[in-house]
Amino acid sequence: MILQIYSKALYSTWIYYAPERILFDAGEGVSLTMSNRIYAIRHVFLTHGHIDHISGLWTVVNTRNNSMGDREKPLTVYYPKENTAIEEWLEFIKKANDDLRFELIAQPVSAQEKIFLRQAGGFARYIVPFKVKHTVQDFSFGYNVIETRRRLKQEYRDLPEEEISRLSKRLGPDQITEIYEKKILTVSGDTFGIDPMDAKDTEILLHECTFLKTSDRRMNAHASLEEVIEIACQANVQRLILYHISSRYSGKVDRYLRNIKENINFQISYVDPETVFTL
Ligand SMILES: [Zn+2]
Ligand SMILES: [Zn+2]
Repeated sequence: MILQIYSKALYSTWIYYAPERILFDAGEGVSLTMSNRIYAIRHVFLTHGHIDHISGLWTVVNTRNNSMGDREKPLTVYYPKENTAIEEWLEFIKKANDDLRFELIAQPVSAQEKIFLRQAGGFARYIVPFKVKHTVQDFSFGYNVIETRRRLKQEYRDLPEEEISRLSKRLGPDQITEIYEKKILTVSGDTFGIDPMDAKDTEILLHECTFLKTSDRRMNAHASLEEVIEIACQANVQRLILYHISSRYSGKVDRYLRNIKENINFQISYVDPETVFTL
């Protein structure tokens, strides 16, 4: 399992990214669903301060404090710097749980800052927040999970395999390869639509898609299906997962996607507003 997601616009959203034990947002019901796996979480990245994305955090902290398992490990909550709603919520949670057995770290982060998850030899995996447009009252971020990888330098890519292995022996592998950054997961957070450059060439784009019909939208705070498809095409994603879908479309999402699937060259799936999604 890579991802476990629950998301219903207005009610609750949370995304568990298993390879790094990360929770992106912590809406209501996250502890109830994750049950005793809740103490596996090492990092929580909050996209913004709206209640449907943060209300479950208190239970995450409280459950982790009382459950079995390695509860002594610190839990770090990252959030957009200067987001006062989140700061006040974290203050409250700390006050309400003054007997915590683990360290609860509140960590404000800035756009484009690198937050390292692991680093060994030439390998690194980190998170980079990016700014998104949502509501004016709230600082909102999307997040990229990025890892460094090695590939052949451009000038060697068309050579036959024997030639490459000869060059590698003669010059050393470091001389014929280069390190590059690969986005493995992009989480949009709530947004009117991300800048496609922020998700360029990502493996998985998780983009909010509150409205399946653009004409259903009243305020320009959330994205619609046609906009998200356009963003995913421009960003050249490998896979698109739609989430934060309004419950008005429950049971009807497949119908909206039917025609779209024929015209795109990436995989598309969606988080049904009534069920937990697993990948
Ligand atoms: Zn929301
Ligand atoms: Zn929101």
